[in-house]
Amino acid sequence: MSASQAAPARDRLRIAIQKNGRLAEPARNLLSACGLSWRESRDKLFCYGESLPVDLLLVRDDDIPGLIADGVCDLGIVGRNELDEQGAARVQRGLKPAFQALRGLGFGACRLMLAVPEEWDWQGPQQLAGTRIATSYPAILKDWLDARDIQAQVVELSGSVEIAPRLGTADLICDLVSSGGTLRANQLKPVETLLDSEAVLAGAVIAPDDARGALLAMLLRRLDGVVQVQDRKLLMFRAEPANVAALEKLLADAEPLVRLPADDGAPRLQTMCPGPLSWQRMEELERAGAQGLMVLSVERSLA
Ligand code: ATP
Ligand code: ZN
Repeated sequence: MSASQAAPARDRLRIAIQKNGRLAEPARNLLSACGLSWRESRDKLFCYGESLPVDLLLVRDDDIPGLIADGVCDLGIVGRNELDEQGAARVQRGLKPAFQALRGLGFGACRLMLAVPEEWDWQGPQQLAGTRIATSYPAILKDWLDARDIQAQVVELSGSVEIAPRLGTADLICDLVSSGGTLRANQLKPVETLLDSEAVLAGAVIAPDDARGALLAMLLRRLDGVVQVQDRKLLMFRAEPANVAALEKLLADAEPLVRLPADDGAPRLQTMCPGPLSWQRMEELERAGAQGLMVLSVERSLA
């Protein structure tokens, strides 16, 4: 089916996620945290949504953008790298954009980078003229090279890109990097970042305007309520009024302190911190007069 054909009417939302691989488990966990649950079919390619009319399709990540473009799925959880690659490839083939990233999800972080043999003295992208670059991301790489007016040969490989320089099939590579361990093991060093990637929720450029539209809006709201609080911590403590100003200073990155209803003892205060609170920071607050410090994880919120 082509993207121009109208998708068949459906009243259930369909989300494609990776069947196996790095994004499979975090994607399922995130959707569970949004209140979705499924009855699993035996072949586990299709999971029927039980708590809401939202079904899962378990596929290879490479297939997710195409499933959205063809209207087979409404949403997908996929790396920005894969989505941008297939988006760029569509534009290069003269096709209209069909899918877009709706939300960053805060997991699956990696970078698409150029990496050269360790012995190269890297001086900048102009050095790439006339080289052969192995990659599984030919469309993003082509756009990047074109934007810099660099003439280099893109060697498309579907896997094991990092051994291409040693095999002599390319001079350098353009590949995903997270820790850099794979590069080091292959005597390569990263030199340029083409894309900062993470898992995203992807959807069609034109959102469904039937029952699925309302489901999609509800799911996005729940997702924001989970993703946006992921690293936040609720901090509670007691403090004598004379110490509050100093504590507020130490908590400049947090929301303003809220005073809770009085009981016996020093006033109780709470605030929301944007990131994790180290032991060192808690001890610093304690020295400034915070008593009975308690750090609570935030599971979800409704904005
Ligand atoms: P599939 O069988 O679904 O095609 P795959 O081998 O293409 O799986 P994975 O290796 O599971 O995919 O990677 C999925 C996504 O995880 C990548 O597209 C990327 O967004 C993200 N990712 C995070 N860190 C890395 C990394 N170090 N290497 C590769 N991908 C990473
Ligand atoms: Zn893949």
